Amino acid sequence: MAELFGDITFLKGVGGARAEKYAKMGIKQPYELLMHIPRDYFDFTSCVKIADARPDERNFLRLKVLEKHAPFVTSTSLVIYKVVVTDGEDIATVVFFNAVYSYRMLIVGKEYYFVGKVTPSVNGPEIKSPVFVNVNENAIQPVYRLTKGITVETMRNNVRQALTLLPQQNIESLTEQVREKYELAPLAWSLQNIHFPESMSAQREAQKRLAFDELLDLCIGMSLMRSNTVRENAFAMDGEISVNKFVETLPFRLTDDQSSAVRDIISDLCKNVPMNRLLQGDVGSGKTAVAVVACCFTALNHRQSALMAPTEILAIQHYKTFSELLEPFGVKVCLLTGSMTAKKKSNIRELIASGEADVIVGTHAIIQKDVKYKSLSLVITDEQHRFGVQQRTELAEKGNSPHRLVMSATPIPRTLALIIYGDLDISVIKQMPAGRKPIKTYAVTGRLRQRAFGFVRKLLDEGRQAYIVCPKIEDGENELFSVKSYGKEIAQRELRGYSVALLHGKMSSAEKEDTMKQFRDGEIQVLICTTVVEVGVDVPNAAVMVIENAERFGLSQLHQLRGRIGRGQYESHCILITDNTTEECIRRMKVISANSDGFVISEEDLKLRGPGDFFGNAQHGLPPLSATARGCSTELMNSAKECAAEILSADSDLEMPENGILRQNAIRMFDKFITG
Ligand code: ADP
Ligand code: MG
Repeated sequence: MAELFGDITFLKGVGGARAEKYAKMGIKQPYELLMHIPRDYFDFTSCVKIADARPDERNFLRLKVLEKHAPFVTSTSLVIYKVVVTDGEDIATVVFFNAVYSYRMLIVGKEYYFVGKVTPSVNGPEIKSPVFVNVNENAIQPVYRLTKGITVETMRNNVRQALTLLPQQNIESLTEQVREKYELAPLAWSLQNIHFPESMSAQREAQKRLAFDELLDLCIGMSLMRSNTVRENAFAMDGEISVNKFVETLPFRLTDDQSSAVRDIISDLCKNVPMNRLLQGDVGSGKTAVAVVACCFTALNHRQSALMAPTEILAIQHYKTFSELLEPFGVKVCLLTGSMTAKKKSNIRELIASGEADVIVGTHAIIQKDVKYKSLSLVITDEQHRFGVQQRTELAEKGNSPHRLVMSATPIPRTLALIIYGDLDISVIKQMPAGRKPIKTYAVTGRLRQRAFGFVRKLLDEGRQAYIVCPKIEDGENELFSVKSYGKEIAQRELRGYSVALLHGKMSSAEKEDTMKQFRDGEIQVLICTTVVEVGVDVPNAAVMVIENAERFGLSQLHQLRGRIGRGQYESHCILITDNTTEECIRRMKVISANSDGFVISEEDLKLRGPGDFFGNAQHGLPPLSATARGCSTELMNSAKECAAEILSADSDLEMPENGILRQNAIRMFDKFITG
């Protein structure tokens, strides 16, 4: 009965050793094997004739074995097997090297489907080491992501048997009305047709259903998580306490959007359910100031707050900002990062435990087990650390349910935000602080590199600083620009006479910090770096950025990168260099050059590339989606979102029997993610 969800060893030919190999791929049950979606298919319904085979490409052919030559051993002990085949019109020779098993499998007079390259030779067309299957097998064969010790044939056989278990148990998670409304195939049919499709159009239907299920599970899981959070108890702060005095001491006036975000947050903090809020705003929109005010309010309530940054550089930068603004106001700010000496860390931990520290700024180190807080009530995570499911669990284990604020500079289209941040309330800062000059962005090919550097030198001579961004740290097999070798070259050529330094992820934190400090102090004029500078680094005098291999970066990432410049009073310029002239790349370069609003850019990115990149982004801290779901259309994503809302509005905790399977699936998705 429960064999589908039982141990994978139930399948014929799967013993302990093979089960272990499957386990390595995350497959422990027959059902999980069925959820291991093919990465590709051999479609023998589109077989070509030998004469029509395209050179240097994979071809599908249906061929009959005419004759098997005797094996031939070369002087290097290579055994060559030749088999003569025909498509009824022409003759070709199939050649195997040392593959006696394949040779034996082929029987004279029988037909097979072959996949391989057809290359001309003096003896007529040859097909070297092709893959083949019997013609009485399914004409569309699945190809899987495999692991060592499991061949594609083994996996196909195991999947075939697992499919026979489907009728034993109801796995259908959607009612017929829902399936009808969203034009979805039944699940069992979809599993059959994702592995052994009747046709490629059946495969597409199956794929649609499976992708829909994943997106739906995601939406529903987020919602269940949210209602769990609501049940926790948090410290309700005092709404009578005012931060106005502190806000007046800030070196600038908050923008309207900043003020309204502050109001949202303070109102949440005064409730006894934990805040779960996302603060979204483009780079440079002033999210940090909002966070500072929230921490000040918390300190005035005699509670502690923690700010977690993704890198040490950022943590240190935030620490400076926070202490400069808060300490004059009597709020004690501490820094805690992983690379501090043990002695220093233990001192800081004492300040945290005694409650002397009001605001704790740091990296992930601040939520480690050995850090005990006296009264932690607000946790803010900056930039790429979405306060993921995992971290929530870590905090829950500390016996705390603090208010949580996530700050993100990755603007996301609204529909996507509703899914990706389905468990969060959202405040958005759209407006930039007054007086910002837009960054001028140009995309050029490598032919204009010398001119670009001439321009960079001109700005350096005027006293500005520059970033040169490369996609890689070191040279590798591809021809991408790397910080190390390209950096050295231009330092001696185009940028000779200027003070240049490298910055990348393989440097120690101390080295990175030292370099950043020198750059901030103006001792270094040009920083040649990887995307390490992407998040949050703030040097107002940096007014020009050159990005090499611009085609390698996503639109949102380019936007984030260039957000490092244009932070001061100077007009800033971003030069994107790419020799990629594909239509897609040109369009992307146009979008980034013509737009300065991160939300508009992300909408364009969604249109150009679909939602896959957004879901695939580890920053969101969500359970990973399969390639199938990541490749879904925006329409399907919207349907899943709508469907989840409909189901949840009628049954918010999914307690009705018809939603039982759906509930289980959503929980399974998140559990698997948390426990790994
Ligand atoms: P974000 O974290 O959103 O990218 P920051 O908080 O680092 O942006 O702010 C960017 C810069 O703008 C900082 O130098 C900050 O001091 C400044 N800033 C923030 N808010 C305002 C404001 N309301 N008016 C003027 N400058 C501001
Ligand atoms: Mg920031």
